[in-house]
Amino acid sequence: MNNIPYGKQTISQEDIDAVVEVLKSDFLTTGPKAKEFEEKIAKYCGAKYCVCVSNGTAALHLSSMVLLKENDKVLTTPNSFLATANAILYVNAKPIFVDICSDGNIDLDLCEEQLKKDSSIKAIYAVHFSGKSVNQEKLKYLKEKYNILILEDCAHSIGAVYKDIKAGSCINSDISIFSFHPVKTLTTGEGGAITTNNKEYYEKLLRLRNHGTTPNPEIGPWHYDMNELGFNYRLTDISCALGLSQLNKLDIFLEKRRQIAKKYDDFFQNILNIESLYSFTNESAYHLYVIKIDFKKFKVDKKELFLKLRENNIFIQYHYIPINKQPYYKNLGYGDEHTPIMEDYYEKALSLPIFPALLEEDQEYVLKTLLEILNG
Ligand SMILES: *Cc1c(COP(=O)(O)O)cnc(C)c1O
Repeated sequence: MNNIPYGKQTISQEDIDAVVEVLKSDFLTTGPKAKEFEEKIAKYCGAKYCVCVSNGTAALHLSSMVLLKENDKVLTTPNSFLATANAILYVNAKPIFVDICSDGNIDLDLCEEQLKKDSSIKAIYAVHFSGKSVNQEKLKYLKEKYNILILEDCAHSIGAVYKDIKAGSCINSDISIFSFHPVKTLTTGEGGAITTNNKEYYEKLLRLRNHGTTPNPEIGPWHYDMNELGFNYRLTDISCALGLSQLNKLDIFLEKRRQIAKKYDDFFQNILNIESLYSFTNESAYHLYVIKIDFKKFKVDKKELFLKLRENNIFIQYHYIPINKQPYYKNLGYGDEHTPIMEDYYEKALSLPIFPALLEEDQEYVLKTLLEILNG
């Protein structure tokens, strides 16, 4: 039997053909496909500008260079992949970890408490965890009332909506970032993107992606000036061709993920001591489908469940280990924040397999096996 991972890319013959076509062309790295990919992402999200970069972490790094200065304080969530908070450290700014709400997203009411207490807080880095947007009205309110910068980490949420607001549109934020890692909804192998409606940010991001350089045709057509320190965070045209081809299928991918999520949701309505992280919503992009298991009521613990599922070819994951509890963060003095919801959440949360190619029979097998193991 094949392994069933929690997430996986879907690659078609068209994707392969699109990549091969670039390999036969003149441009392998950032060229016409990158430009087209950026235009299409910006259009899809409803943002003015898009800059594609080598991965989601690079997108976070460059965004932090644009938004933050040394020692700036940034409210963020412990419930994310490491990169969200690490990007704050990259520019020597200071993450402040805020507890989450019941849906796994940063608690914006607690953010407001912090903003009231400390007017020097510069920004919020919010993650639309699992593909469900944070409350956009509250985001808008905080941005306007406290005059803060907002970064939306949309690594889980391409295609997600909040009422009529599309993830990455930056309607209530300064910058959004995406990841196109194979486990995410849309893939370029490795890849990432930044969207913004701010022209200055856009131009600076373009420079930073390319060593901090700008052409200077006044001196000569060959000449470039470097006025700031940048990186090589370019995305290849090979990757962008894959991304463009994947974008054509994004709405089908999302539809499939929502179908799978709905089925999980219906199933867990009738199961005691296991609940879906939030009840089904068409607005979520469902990068993850998370359930919360009250392990005290069952015969196995978290580790046994993980290992036994593996023995049965099911590769679930626990998202996320609280970032503030990581040894590196503990060495910096983090880890003792008051985050009871996050701690309770991490004891219970499990990400089930969800990806467009997941077969109905495999989903049923996952559910049956999960209950069998839990009930011993
Ligand atoms: C995947 C992910 C990232 C990092 O993206 P990479 O492309 O792997 O560098 C950042 N934030 C979140 C929430 C992610 O899930």
